[in-house]
Amino acid sequence: MSEMHTVFDDPSTHPQRIAREGVDEAHLSLRPRSFDQYPGQERVVDNLKIYTQAAKMRGRMLDHCLFHGPPGLGKTTLAGIIAAVMDYELVTTSGPNIERPRDLMGILVGLEANTLLFIDEIHRLPAPVEEVLYSAMEDRSLDLVVGDGHSARTVKFDLKSFTLVGATTRAGSLSLPLRERFGIVEHLEYYSEDSLAIIIQRSANILGTDIEPLGALTLAQRSRGTPRVANVLLRRVMDFALVAGQKNIDAKIVASALLRLGVDDAGLSPKDRLFLAIMRDRHDGGPVGLEAVAAAMGEERQTLEDVYEPYLVHKGFIIRTLRGRQLSAMAHEHLKKFGDLGT
Ligand code: ADP
Repeated sequence: MSEMHTVFDDPSTHPQRIAREGVDEAHLSLRPRSFDQYPGQERVVDNLKIYTQAAKMRGRMLDHCLFHGPPGLGKTTLAGIIAAVMDYELVTTSGPNIERPRDLMGILVGLEANTLLFIDEIHRLPAPVEEVLYSAMEDRSLDLVVGDGHSARTVKFDLKSFTLVGATTRAGSLSLPLRERFGIVEHLEYYSEDSLAIIIQRSANILGTDIEPLGALTLAQRSRGTPRVANVLLRRVMDFALVAGQKNIDAKIVASALLRLGVDDAGLSPKDRLFLAIMRDRHDGGPVGLEAVAAAMGEERQTLEDVYEPYLVHKGFIIRTLRGRQLSAMAHEHLKKFGDLGT
C-alpha cells in the first residue's frame, strides 16, 4: 500500500477533501447543506431522499449518481448534501484535472471507506482514464500492473467503499459504458421564478440584507433560471442599494441595478444579446453553425454550447435545426426592444 502511494503521489492531481462543517468562505456560505435548504428540482430531490433513505435502511453504499444539466443549477451542491445525509467524507476533483489513468488510480487507492468521490465535468475525462472507472464502479476494484517487462503482472486491488457522483453539462458526451454504470441518473432543469425567489430570499438573509418579495421576484425573473446567476446578481444589487443608502431592496432598485448591468427583462446579458445579434446581422438569422458564431464572439464553441445556448433555446430565442441554429421571431422582437442596452 505504501508503495502505491509513492507511485501515485503527484500533488497536482490531489483531490480536495472538503470539511463538512466550518467552511466560511463567502462563496461557499450560500451553498445549501441539506435537502430542506435546497428549493426547486423537486422531482430530483424527492427521488434522492428515497434513494439515500433506502441505502441507509439496507446498510449499503448509495449507488453511483450522475447529475446532468446546465452550469450553476446545483449539481455540486447536491453532491455535498448527499455526503452530509449519508455521512460520507466528500472528496472532490474534476475531469480536466485527471490527465492520466494513474492519476485517477492514485485518487481511488487513497480513498477512505465511506467516501463520496465527486468528479465535476466528468465528460472531460480522457478515454483511458474513463476505462479505469469501469471496474472501480462496478466491483470496487482496480487491475494494477506491478513490475516491468517479463516480471510484469496484473494484480487485483480492492478499493474501499465509495460512491461516485459525476456532474456534467453534456450527458451526450459520456461514453455509453460509463453512463450505464451509474445507477442513479438525474437531469437538473432551469428553476421556476418562485423557487428562485425563495433561494434569493434565503441568500439575502444569510448575507444580512432585506429584500422585498417583489424585489426577489424581479431578480428571479432575470436570473436565467439559475441559482448561481441569482446569487451573483443579488450581490451586485446589494452594492447598488448600499451606495444609494437604501436598506431595503425593492423591485425598483433591482430593476435599475440590473439595467446598469445590462441585464434585460428576460434576464439576457450583453453576451446573450451579442450571440443573437451576430446571428441576425451576419447570418441573416440562420441557420448557422455554432463555430461561426463562436469565432465572431471571440468565445470557445464549447462555452457557447454549455453556457449561453441552452438558456436561449429554453426561452425560445434560438431554434435548433438539422442545418444549424435559427433565430426565432421572438428573438428579433427582443433585439429591437433591448438591443440598445448593449451587446
Ligand atoms: P453546478 O455544480 O450545477 O454548476 P452549484 O452546485 O455549484 O452548481 O451551484 C451554484 C450555486 O448556486 C451554489 O453556490 C449554491 O449556492 C447555489 N444553488 C444551487 N442550487 C441551489 C438550490 N436549489 N438552492 C439554493 N441555492 C442553490
